[in-house]
Amino acid sequence: MDSTYCPAGRIGDLGVSEILTITARANAMKREGFPVIILGTGEPDFDTPDHIKDAAIEAIRQGQTKYTNLDGSPEMKRAIRDKFRRENGLEFAANEVTAAAGAKQILYNAMMATLDAGDEVIIPTPCWTSYFDIVRIAEGVPVAVPCPGEDGFRLSAAALEAAITPRTRWLLINSPSNPTGSAYSAQDYLPLIEVLHRHPHVWLMVDDMYEHIVYDDFRFVTPLALDPSLKDRCLTVNGVSKAYAMTGWRLGYAGGPAALIAGMAVVQSQSTSCPSSVTQAAAIAALDGPQDVLIPRRASFQKRRDMVVDALNQIDGIFCRRPEGAFYTFASCEGLLGRVTPEGRRIDSDRDFCAWLLESADVAMVPGSAFGLSPYFRISYATSEAELAEALSRIAAACATLRAAE
Ligand code: PMP
Repeated sequence: MDSTYCPAGRIGDLGVSEILTITARANAMKREGFPVIILGTGEPDFDTPDHIKDAAIEAIRQGQTKYTNLDGSPEMKRAIRDKFRRENGLEFAANEVTAAAGAKQILYNAMMATLDAGDEVIIPTPCWTSYFDIVRIAEGVPVAVPCPGEDGFRLSAAALEAAITPRTRWLLINSPSNPTGSAYSAQDYLPLIEVLHRHPHVWLMVDDMYEHIVYDDFRFVTPLALDPSLKDRCLTVNGVSKAYAMTGWRLGYAGGPAALIAGMAVVQSQSTSCPSSVTQAAAIAALDGPQDVLIPRRASFQKRRDMVVDALNQIDGIFCRRPEGAFYTFASCEGLLGRVTPEGRRIDSDRDFCAWLLESADVAMVPGSAFGLSPYFRISYATSEAELAEALSRIAAACATLRAAE
């Protein structure tokens, strides 16, 4: 064996996510003195509420600084079960819930615990970039099902039916969605559930991370609440990162069949053991505590969503649907393709568009191709209104300089 690092087949050609690469490039430009506005990051710009921080400080003072039960302290599991009952009408026993260092680790545990090499996971795209790579690390095969903007970026029953094979292990759905902000109503879910009933070997994983960030009169619903008969093959994933502005604390959780939850604990036991004891104390306070802290934040996000959607739709060549939730817009730049920049460069793709905007307007956005659908670009509007307004006016001014090819 020589001393050159040779990656294991299972990580093969996986790289660092494009979102991180773009953010790193934008930050480097900032350090060089460019006034870059980053609309790339997927975390709320708000601070963690004080009562949550206080609970963590209190836990440290009281010596809650030791290992806890592997997949969540009894109190953590109680808080998770109460949350599912109170907010989703779902009943889980203590051995049917689990806590991990982020919803990302929950998804990772679940894939590692269930996939054999070659097992397929149906993933409606565009989707959060990590889904594909987590499935690949678990030696599964991500099966992308394109969900066009005309369908609200939502999976149709026909497309689901067509994607199912004997090797399908999971359907993985995220609502509201990163990167599109689209969400599934009860009416959207029911036909998909009907398809699942025809294919009992397909399990359902739902990523409800953005449950609390929905707008107007949209009513969030999770599929298991619509059809409790899915209980023996549904994993309902959630976390505190987005709802309570706790991305750095690292706490995600899930409810599902006891045998699966036990399998996931095996994976976790040999990677991280338990999530941080201090973070668990904070997460308990978040789940048990006053939920009205979310109301003004939601209102603020909604205002920014409208600001972004309205401004983008005024730009010739760009179209943006008004998403139901999360803090992202996913706009089409199809109308700009083929146009030429003042420097004489042709915009041939969403990647070209985003790269040009970063260079010429100091605005960092992520191309849709990073999420599996072109030609789109994602804006994260979890940033101040002042920054957003400045970024949107720069985008509009830059687009106005594009001209048709000769
Ligand atoms: N699911 C989705 C759709 C996300 O956007 C994210 C974070 N970007 C996660 C899961 C992971 O969240 P965390 O690990 O912070 O709980």
